[in-house]
Amino acid sequence: MPEPNQAPTTEDSPETAPERYGYCHWHQDSARGIRLIDAIEQGSGPGITYYACPPCITLHHLVPLADRP
Ligand SMILES: [Zn+2]
Repeated sequence: MPEPNQAPTTEDSPETAPERYGYCHWHQDSARGIRLIDAIEQGSGPGITYYACPPCITLHHLVPLADRP
């Protein structure tokens, strides 16, 4: 009997990036789907990271760090 052509099921959910919830530095409030805009390395300490939500990215013409060449 023919076997059903099944794709290997590793995970039920499709590979989608989870929406990141956190602080938007541009409108200074928590937001969903924030992106890392800038990361400033510091000699000591964890460094400074700036996140922005999608509306602020559009409003301020920001380019997320991951989308830069
Ligand atoms: Zn924002």
